[in-house]
Formats: sequence, structure tokens, C-alpha cells
Amino acid sequence: MAIVFGCKKFYQFIFGKFFILRTDNKALEYILGPRKGIPQTADNRLQRWVYFLSGFRYITEHVSSKANANCDALSRLPIDDNIKLTNSKFSHVYFFDEGLISYDYKILANESKTDKEISQAIKYVMQEWPSNDTNLSGELKSIFEKRLELCVEKGCLFWGLRAIVPKNMRRVIINELHATHLGIVKIKMFSRSYVWWPGIDNDIERMVRECNICIIERKKPPHTPLTTWPYPSKAWGRIHCDFAELIQKLFARHGLPLHCVTDGGPQFRSDEFCKFLANNGVKHSFSPPYHPATNGAAENKVQIFKDKVKKIVKGGETVDNAINMFLFDYRSIDHCTTGKSPAYLLYKRELRTRFDKLRPCVVDHVDDKQRAQIVAKSGNRNVDFQIGDKVYVDDHGVRAEVRKEATIVRQDSPSTFVVVDKNDKRQKRDVDQMVSNKPTKLRRSPRLNQANN
Ligand SMILES: [Zn+2]
Repeated sequence: MAIVFGCKKFYQFIFGKFFILRTDNKALEYILGPRKGIPQTADNRLQRWVYFLSGFRYITEHVSSKANANCDALSRLPIDDNIKLTNSKFSHVYFFDEGLISYDYKILANESKTDKEISQAIKYVMQEWPSNDTNLSGELKSIFEKRLELCVEKGCLFWGLRAIVPKNMRRVIINELHATHLGIVKIKMFSRSYVWWPGIDNDIERMVRECNICIIERKKPPHTPLTTWPYPSKAWGRIHCDFAELIQKLFARHGLPLHCVTDGGPQFRSDEFCKFLANNGVKHSFSPPYHPATNGAAENKVQIFKDKVKKIVKGGETVDNAINMFLFDYRSIDHCTTGKSPAYLLYKRELRTRFDKLRPCVVDHVDDKQRAQIVAKSGNRNVDFQIGDKVYVDDHGVRAEVRKEATIVRQDSPSTFVVVDKNDKRQKRDVDQMVSNKPTKLRRSPRLNQANN
């Protein structure tokens, strides 16, 4: 807070200049430090601060609290002041321009207005909560407990990153969460990244238990003896296959695994397949005949897959749609055993899902902003370009080569230049569309470079 205040107060003095931000708060040093990125779960206020600070050039330095006495003295001086800490609402950080299919933040905001308790809670957040919950009724009591972590964006109430959903919308949201007939545990886990309301867990349980399709399809769990394979040391270390047809494609996309476990079916026994794995240095194991449990990972997945897809088809989807819908949800929800979503384990990133449109996308915007700054900063290869330099620029002509020679005649912005080619044609090019034949400097963080200067 003090850092943001300081940067606002001395804006005229520090903007555009390089400065050192000294704080006795280790966590802040980490969060505000250059090129760290904001944790996904950071609350909106913190995200706004980080966004604001991203406009400055600075490095952070840790000072022990003892050595920070000058600041403490100032903050304890009894003075009267009524300087406004923030004079603008930072809502422009939020961009809501995504194509939406069902509910979005606008509907959420409207429904919040008509929901008696949610709208009251929004009022409290904007003004002030009562000092205790004795006079609060029903849901307001549960919301009261979270009052310190609530915020309002564009008329929607958020608890951290989770939208607080008004009563009218809850049924549809649960339906959407259960669209692929995943079980209670999975849905709860999924919902926790997006939505909340008082009693959401009970509502989910009731809804899933009442799902006709799930009841009809429910069957006894198979007697699979518990055989666990050692947890692979890295993504794609060991794969369990049930079909041989697509394996070549899979390897092309994800690389070769160390170990491939299959059943003893003829397609896996074939010389061709065994040779293919051997040539690629992939260890091959068979599950014993008539004991598919050894290949439990694949068998299990196939069973879940068939079960869910069947249910989705019963709900009125085509088989192709059902397959894609199921795979998408299955891959984006944390897995009970690993605690991570399959997508994250393989790609080290979470997939964007249809529930993301319920919340404004701050992080993307801040990222864009930071990227733009990095391009604009001195210190990376781009500023090697000088007026008069011979460069190769991307050529978008109809019968053109990929690049053509040209000379820089003007610089329009840190990252755009005007060049003239040998036919005297003037063109504007971004640095990303320009290549120099001078040796390139090592690409480093611009802020690091400045710190060394
Ligand atoms: Zn169901």
C-alpha cells in the first residue's frame, strides 16, 4: 500500500526513471519483484497494484525491519491529512470482450442486482459491513465471514477469484459443471476455481445424486485389485496404451516416452510394433493375459471414458461432441490421485475453460501490458537497430521472398521503424519483422540489464 502510495505521490519524479524499491516485506519483494508474474490466486486489489507498478522501472531490495526505521518513524508521526490514496477506479484493467455462449459477467451482474442478499452484500462491500453478524440473515451470515476477502467488479461480487453466484443462476451453473457427468469430488474441485455461494457443496451433491442419467447408469464398481505403478518421474515418462493405431501420431506430438505398457493384443505383439518401440528406445511391457488390471491405468481410463460419453450422449449430444466434451473436462479438472489436472501435468499450464468467462481476465491483460513494456525497454536485441542500418524485413508482397533488404530511415516508437527498400518503397515494420545481420546480444531481462548499469 505504501509503495503504491509513494509511486503515486512522486509520480512526476520517478515515472520513466529507474529506481530501487526498498521494502522490509519479503513477500512483497517477491510479488513486486521484476519478471515474477502475479500468482493466479492473488486477490484483485493486489493484482491492481502490481498492474499499476508495472508501469514503472524498478528493482526491489529487501531491507530488514530494523534498518527500516526511517519509514516507521514517518508512518507513526501523528499528522492530519486527507490525501486521497486512489483517485481513479482501476476498473479499466478489466476487459470483457470474450465471445460467450451461456452465462457471462453481465448476466451475473444483473442477477446479482435482483438477488436480495447478494445485492445487500455488494452494498456492504462498497460501503461498510456491520461490525458483527447478529442482525444479518440467511446467506448474508455466511458471506459476512468472508467479508475481508470480497470485492466487487463490474457489479459482480467476487470472493478472491470465485464469482459469488446469485440464487437464480445456481441451478444452471451446477448443470454446466455436471454437463459431462463427472462425479461429485471432481465437480467440487472444479467449482472451487470459479464459483462459490453459501452451501455450494451441498447443492452440488444433491444435484449429482438426483441426475437421472447418472442413476440409471450407476453400476457396482469393478473388482480391480489395487496395483499401483510407480509414479513417473516426469511427464510422458510412462504411457499406458489400449489402441495401437494412433501411437505414432501421439509420439510425434509429445515425444517418446521411456516406457510403454500395453495388453497382449495382436496389434501390440506384432513385429512391426515391437520393432518400432525398440528402434525408438522405448521400453515395452505387456500386462499378463486375462489380467487387464496390470494395465489398469489405461483400462480404467477407457472405462471412465465409455461411461461418461454414454451419459453425455443420453443427454442429447452427438457421439463426437460427447467425446470432446468429456476429454476437455477430464483434462482440465484436477485429478484426485495427482492433485493436478492432466493438462497441467503434460503442458504445465491450465486449460482455459467455459467458466473462465465468469471472471474478468486481469492476468492476461497485465501480461500483455508487461510484454509491451519489455519490447519497449532498452537492453534487448531490438534497440540494436539504428537509423541508417541495413536490415532484412519481412516482405508481404505477392510474389515475394520471405525477407528483403532495406534501410532504416526513421524510428516511430521503441518497437516500430520505417524502412526503405531498394525500390524506394517506404514501409513500416515492427522489430519482430526485422532481422539484422549484426551479431545479436544475449537476450536478458531488460530490468536486469538496468540493475547492472
Ligand atoms: Zn449425471
